[in-house]
Amino acid sequence: MSQYIFETKTEEETRRLANELALLLSPGQVLTLEGDLGAGKTTFTKGLGAGLGVRRTINSPTFTIVKEYMGEIPLYHMDAYRLEDIQEDIGFDEYFNGDGITVVEWASFIEEFLPEERLQIQIKRIDEHTRKITFHPIGDHFDSICKELYS
Ligand code: ADP
Ligand code: MG
Repeated sequence: MSQYIFETKTEEETRRLANELALLLSPGQVLTLEGDLGAGKTTFTKGLGAGLGVRRTINSPTFTIVKEYMGEIPLYHMDAYRLEDIQEDIGFDEYFNGDGITVVEWASFIEEFLPEERLQIQIKRIDEHTRKITFHPIGDHFDSICKELYS
């Protein structure tokens, strides 16, 4: 599996990377976001939202499973943490096959319901301001998106 590694030195750089990614995405695509608390998942999602034309402030989806943000393309920010014991499909496709981009945190909890083609993003805190951001594209389309972002 190919991977694309970026390093950012500021919060702003992380936002910019996500903003550039957003411009390459189309409705019905799914991204998964992994990283420890404080890694920069919400920061990254804010950048995505900016790139998708979301005007509302994006924050962590702590008390709701999905937050929906209207934009030129809608952004669905899903926190799968409390879905760990879900056995049946509770209608994920309304998001995953919908008209927006879905960003999933704690995606491993709903692995079996995720679409096969997706972009896995992992953010790792290196030090106070440095983050290693690794993209694992699954599927040719996401691979070309990553290549374009990387060049
Ligand atoms: P998470 O959602 O993963 O818990 P947040 O995005 O809420 O993380 O928080 C990331 C924190 O790290 C913010 O306080 C942000 O200012 C800080 N930070 C420092 N450097 C960076 C960087 N390069 N990229 C992203 N965030 C950074
Ligand atoms: Mg967060």
